[in-house]
Amino acid sequence: MKLLDGKTAIITGASRGIGKGIALAFAQHGANVAFTYSSSAEAAKALENELNSLGIKAKGYQSDAASFDQAQQLADDVVKEFGSIDILVNNAGITKDNLLMRISEEDFDKVIEVNLKSVFNMTKAVQRTMLKQRKGSIINMSSVVGVKGNAGQTNYAASKAGIIGFSKSVALELGSRNIRSNVIAPGFIETEMTAKLDENTVKGWREAIPLKRGGTPEDIANACVFLASDMSDYITGQTLNVDGGMLT
Ligand code: NAP
Repeated sequence: MKLLDGKTAIITGASRGIGKGIALAFAQHGANVAFTYSSSAEAAKALENELNSLGIKAKGYQSDAASFDQAQQLADDVVKEFGSIDILVNNAGITKDNLLMRISEEDFDKVIEVNLKSVFNMTKAVQRTMLKQRKGSIINMSSVVGVKGNAGQTNYAASKAGIIGFSKSVALELGSRNIRSNVIAPGFIETEMTAKLDENTVKGWREAIPLKRGGTPEDIANACVFLASDMSDYITGQTLNVDGGMLT
């Protein structure tokens, strides 16, 4: 028996990076996977095929996480296609880094909409189904930057800190219905998002991490498998730092 056998998961932003790692790990543990992407249609199709070859049911959906209506439509489509929603991973996220002095209103709003409002959109969209099932696990992707702050990332840090407050509130509201809500705060994970960073900065970060390496999407995916599975049935309202000891 695999840890996620018979469960259906929605993962936002899984065409690459951490989301893709989560989709693969969930499928390996027996979950059916509905995942979203923004524009990477080819990568999404390739992932859909790879997931289906693992013997589970998988489907990719183009859906803008920042859109309330698209989130609702996605949840409806997934229930129709898969029959249930047991796990929601709010993973889609972007950065638009700049010092406060230079950051535009547009870049502030965009990051809040894609990173934070998306969590509201999707949680609200799956709530009715999870309430009916009297069971559900919601996992929200924050960041060490949301816990600690970071110069040059006021917009991103605000969105990621907001996710923690939102998630704890959902845990309090829906705990009596057996719906759990937890946060993962990844440290420095080597994906396209961090590939944009200057190599010297990255070297400095790796050296400062107690485990002496950047994380991989699999490191985050493994924590997600735990929080998605019944192994974590008595855990809600928590933030799990998966950061090689960065915040220690
Ligand atoms: P990534 O490689 O840039 O991938 C981002 C994913 O999100 C892609 O699949 C992208 O789809 C999707 N996406 C972007 N905007 C979207 C939208 N509006 N609607 C739906 N999907 C959208 O990022 P990553 O490094 O894997 O990061 C994943 C999550 O972990 C993010 O929330 C990020 O903030 C968080 N995180 C990352 C790190 C890190 O070090 N990498 C650290 C802490 C937290 P397309 O391919 O179609 O664009």
